[in-house]
Amino acid sequence: MVDGDDRAARILARLQAGGGRVTTARRALIVALVAADQHVTADDLAACVQAIHPDVHRSTIYRTLDALERLGVVDHVHLGHGRAVYHLADEPHQHLVCEACGEVIEVPDDLFDDLASQLQDRYRFTIRPHHFAVLGRCRRHASDSQN
Ligand SMILES: [Zn+2]
Ligand SMILES: [Zn+2]
Ligand SMILES: [Zn+2]
Repeated sequence: MVDGDDRAARILARLQAGGGRVTTARRALIVALVAADQHVTADDLAACVQAIHPDVHRSTIYRTLDALERLGVVDHVHLGHGRAVYHLADEPHQHLVCEACGEVIEVPDDLFDDLASQLQDRYRFTIRPHHFAVLGRCRRHASDSQN
C-alpha cells in the first residue's frame, strides 16, 4: 500500500509540475488506477471512484479520464475484442494477449524498436504498438492447434 501511495504521489507531483490541476476526481482516478494494478475499463474505474467519492458524478469521471489521457498521465489500450482498458502511463509497456486464455503479458517498449524502424524505412509507416495488444498464444497454450 505504501508503494501504491508513493506511486500516486509521484504521478500527482509530476502532473502539478507540468501545470496540471489536482482535483478530487483526478486524484481519485489516479489512486484507483494504482490500486487496480491491472487494466480496467472506464466503467470499472467509475465504480471504484464512486465507492469512495459518491458525490463525484459519473460524467465528471469520464471527462476527467479523457483529460488525464490528454495530459499523458493515463493511456488506453485495446486488448482484444472487448472495450478499451486504461492504465497509468508512468511505466511504459506493450501488451501481449493470449487468444486462448486472455492472459495479458506486459513487455518492454524497446522490443518493438527494430520492427518500428524497419516499417519506417520500408513503408514510411510509424507504428504505435502500445495502442493495441499483439495477440497470440501464451506458453501454456502455444501447442493448442485448435481454434
Ligand atoms: Zn483506442
Ligand atoms: Zn498496460
Ligand atoms: Zn493462454
